[in-house]
Amino acid sequence: MSNSFELSSSPEVYARTLLAQLKLRRINDIDSFVALLGLRIREVDADGFEGALVRVPQQLKGIIAIKRSIREEGRKRFTICHEVGHFILPGHGTTDCVCLTEEVESWRKSMPEQELAANQFAAELLLPYQEIRPYVIKRDLTIVRAKEVSNEFHSSLTAACLKCVEVTEERCAVVLSTAGSIKA
Ligand SMILES: [Zn+2]
Repeated sequence: MSNSFELSSSPEVYARTLLAQLKLRRINDIDSFVALLGLRIREVDADGFEGALVRVPQQLKGIIAIKRSIREEGRKRFTICHEVGHFILPGHGTTDCVCLTEEVESWRKSMPEQELAANQFAAELLLPYQEIRPYVIKRDLTIVRAKEVSNEFHSSLTAACLKCVEVTEERCAVVLSTAGSIKA
């Protein structure tokens, strides 16, 4: 699978490529999705970490351990996709990953690079650009719209807001450049 990935690709491109390879437009059932990758989800009583990836040595398999006490479904799905990111993205090592609560779904610049990459990967996997576009295009972006997206895609509201803004900004940039070329 890794052969078809470009080394210089962004985490978002890896997420899109993965969905395309699995012939999925978006993730519905998260358990069957991770099963396609050789992963299983285990809920565990955890203190101090949100999720972890436990690799099965010598095999392309693993277990995603997830904190049982996470209440929000969107947060749970994000954390699972974050661990999938560590499993799929190149350079994320061959040993186990343990991810802290404050590092999952965080966009602070001071974050470790791999945690940020896993978050970018997870956001695109749960909220694929192509699927979000119809929700924000030709419509005003409001919190109501973001809420609609988070319900539809079972993501957290924060992740949905960020993705909607990202998609809208890209659209604005396209409109601006078109306007620019018309003037020129
Ligand atoms: Zn992580």
